[in-house]
Parts: sequence; structure tokens; C-alpha cells
Amino acid sequence: MKRMMCMAGWVLGTAIAAAGQTQTGAAPLAPLPVNAAVSKALQGISAEQVKGDIAKLVSFGTRNTLSSMDTTLPPGQGINAAADWITSEFQAISAQCGGCLEVKRDEFVQPTTTTGYGRIPSPTKLVNVYAILHGTGGDKAPWVLVTGHYDSRATDVMNDKLTSPGANDDASGVAVSIESARALSGLGKAGVTLTGTMVFVAVAGEEQGLYGSRHLAQLAKSEGWPLEAVLNDDIVGGDTTPGETMQKKDVVRVFSESIPATATPEQQRMMLGLGAEGDSPSRELARQIVELAPSFFKPMGQHPPVGRAGEHNDATVPAFHPVMVLRRDRYLRGGDHSSFNAEGFTAVRFTEWRENFDHQHQTLRTENGVEYGDLLKFVDFNYVVRVAQLNALTMASLAAAPSEPHNVRILTKALDNNSELTWEAPAFAPAGTTYEVVWRDTDEPEWTHSQSAGAETHLKLNVSKDDVLFGVRAVSAAGDASLPVPPLPAR
Ligand SMILES: [Zn+2]
Repeated sequence: MKRMMCMAGWVLGTAIAAAGQTQTGAAPLAPLPVNAAVSKALQGISAEQVKGDIAKLVSFGTRNTLSSMDTTLPPGQGINAAADWITSEFQAISAQCGGCLEVKRDEFVQPTTTTGYGRIPSPTKLVNVYAILHGTGGDKAPWVLVTGHYDSRATDVMNDKLTSPGANDDASGVAVSIESARALSGLGKAGVTLTGTMVFVAVAGEEQGLYGSRHLAQLAKSEGWPLEAVLNDDIVGGDTTPGETMQKKDVVRVFSESIPATATPEQQRMMLGLGAEGDSPSRELARQIVELAPSFFKPMGQHPPVGRAGEHNDATVPAFHPVMVLRRDRYLRGGDHSSFNAEGFTAVRFTEWRENFDHQHQTLRTENGVEYGDLLKFVDFNYVVRVAQLNALTMASLAAAPSEPHNVRILTKALDNNSELTWEAPAFAPAGTTYEVVWRDTDEPEWTHSQSAGAETHLKLNVSKDDVLFGVRAVSAAGDASLPVPPLPAR
């Protein structure tokens, strides 16, 4: 329905443009394309593999972060064994692509921490495992990162003796990282050249207070990773509980911060003054994910049914689609994307439509006929596949695109009802790069209009800057687009 309303919006907008404006060619938003080989690679993401990943992670008994220091656990149990398995899995994927992945471990000791989140009672080893798929575009081409946390917990987050399967929270997110790596690392063999670099991550320490992701985000900053986007998948298992009727298997939520965590007071005043609080880089990423989805998840009728068969047959609604939630995270809750936001990176969180709190952060037990615990049997592996496809689609698109345009400005010297935008070429702009201006009414959640500027770095539109929000993105010769950059005013 939301899509339908948007379409009505742009039909109306087009009519207005045609009714009396000199601007020609202002068009409904052009769809973002998906490369056929990428589409095929995404279709190869399998529920069997996802199930294997999650079952393996559950088999370690506990993945409580504190178990890294526990010498009393049986062999093969605990978070160290899980870290070793994830490392070996990335290495196995790399072996399949001729060593295309650089598999690394970010290992450190978190000192005793009792303030803030606390939850680190004595110095504790943490290991983040990651695999880098280097692009061909050199060090200026954009990087994209996908992450999930492989640590788990029971009701008592400080007790590493309790069985803590963490199948949904967050073995499901780790499976997204691993299966995205498996699918996208095969693109080279399929003849696809990706200029950007991708990083596939599993972090520890989330349940103790985001310690693993914080360390990795700081590492990324200190090493100057040109990260254009960070995708955090946490609780993407599509909880399936007998008798539950409110879950939706065709939707995933995408959370994004409004005003960036690192915005200075001056930047905050500017964003509020311009009404740009809905156009932070992280929000632009969320918006782009929503825009990309229909290029792969075709409307019902063009695509085999997914999730619950026959759930709907509205031919205009994609079979699987992200929904933006205009918040940093769930109400008063947090996640690893916030660690990246805190270092100034663009980052969003994916989470299933409806969480079941009996099945997360719970010690295994049955009370009054209710089964508590984050068990494998409540995970819908096909749902995880859809989420992994959406993540991998986003990564492949951004990694094939130029980087973001620089110094995007809207000229405000003349008081008139036009909008004149200027910008500079991005750091990474391969041959054939063009630019597209996108816009929407201020009360629209998603872009509704676009206009190509070709290879020019300015565009004048007969659209009043007072009434719309703009973004400028750089587009590759094949049509892959960077994230849009909203303009700042210039006199
Ligand atoms: Zn989690």
C-alpha cells in the first residue's frame, strides 16, 4: 500500500511539472538496476547453508563472551570454538574463489569494565572475525561492510555456564555475513568486476555492551577504511512460533539514526534549520535499501511465492521488502550499528518484523506451558535467505558504484522558486560516471523523482527548494548508484 501511495504521489508531481514549468525531463524515479550475474548469485543463497551455519553456531553450547576465559568448558564448547569455526568457514569460502578473501581476526583484551554497560567483570579476550573481498578500484573506491554478532546470552548475561543457543540472536545475522560472503565471492568467477571492497564480519561482545563492534569500528577509523555503508543484521531469523499470527515473513525492518551521532551542535542546527533531520547518511542508506529491493524481489506474480504462501497477491507489492523505521534502534535498545555511527560511519540495523521476547535473552526452560529460549526450531531459514539476499544486493550495488559526490550545494543567492545544485566529482569516479539528482516532497519517506545531469556537475530544476528535499548521487556506466548526498546551502 505504501508503494501505491508513493506512486500516486509521483504521478501527481509529474502532472504539476507538466502544467507550467520550463523544466523538461523531470521524471518519476528511475529504478535502480540489478546486474544479472549478481541476481543469479543471490538466488544461490540457500536455506540449507543458512541452517547449517546456525546449527553449527548453536552446537557450541554457549557463545557468551565471558566464556573466552573459561578453562572449565568441555572441548569444542564456548565462544573461542565458535570464533575458530567462523574463521575456518571464511577460509573455506576463500578456498573456493582462489583465495579471494583476506581472512582476519581482530583480537583484543577488554579490560574490566563496570561502568556504562559494565558486564566485563575481569579482563576478557574478544575476537572479531572478518573477511575482506578486495575490489579492483583501488584505495578510493567505496567499501561496504556487513556484520552480525556471534556472542549469545541466557537470562543472566554474566553466566557463561548456561546453554545459550542464540539461534536468532544473533546466529541468524552471522549467517547473513557468511552467506553474503559465499554468494558475492563467486562473482569474480561469474565475470563480474566489483570496484568496491566488501567486508564480511562476525563480532563478539554485543550482549556485554557492544564491545566487539566498538573495537572494530575504531580499527576501521584508525586504518582509514573508506566505508560508505555498514549493514548490521541482528535478530533476522523470522521467529516462527506455533499459534503466533502477527509475524510477517515478507518484511524486514531497517532502523537508521536521524541526526548523526557525531554531528556537531552547528551541524545539528543546520540540519534542523533545513528540515534535513530525515536525511542523515544512515537514513539515505536505509532509503536506498528500500529503493533497491524491488530490482531483485519482483512483485508477486513475477517471482515464486516466498514465506507464507498466498499471504498476499497484490501484484504491485514486492514479495519481500524492507520497511524503514525512522529510529536509531528499537525503543531504548541498541546494537552494533550504533558503534559504527559513533565513529562517524553510515550504518543501519536489520531486524525481523516482530520479535518474540520469549525466544531471546532467555535461559532455556518451560514455564506454564511456554517454552523459553532462542532455539534453532524457531528460526525460518528461508526468511534468513531473503534478508541475506537483500544485504548482498545492497553490497553488490554500492560496491559497483562510484563513491559519493563531494561538496553538494544548493545555490541560495537568488530568491526564486528554482533549485540550482552543484557538486564535485567523487574521489572514485571511473570512466562513464554520471550524476543523478533525486528529490521528494518533504512529507514523503522515499525519493519520488530523479533527473540525470549526465556528466555535468550542476543542474537547475524548476522545482522550489522550499518544498522538496534533494540528494545527488554518482552513477556508474552500468547504472549502479552511490548513496545520495543532500545539498548544503551556498550563497
Ligand atoms: Zn543481538
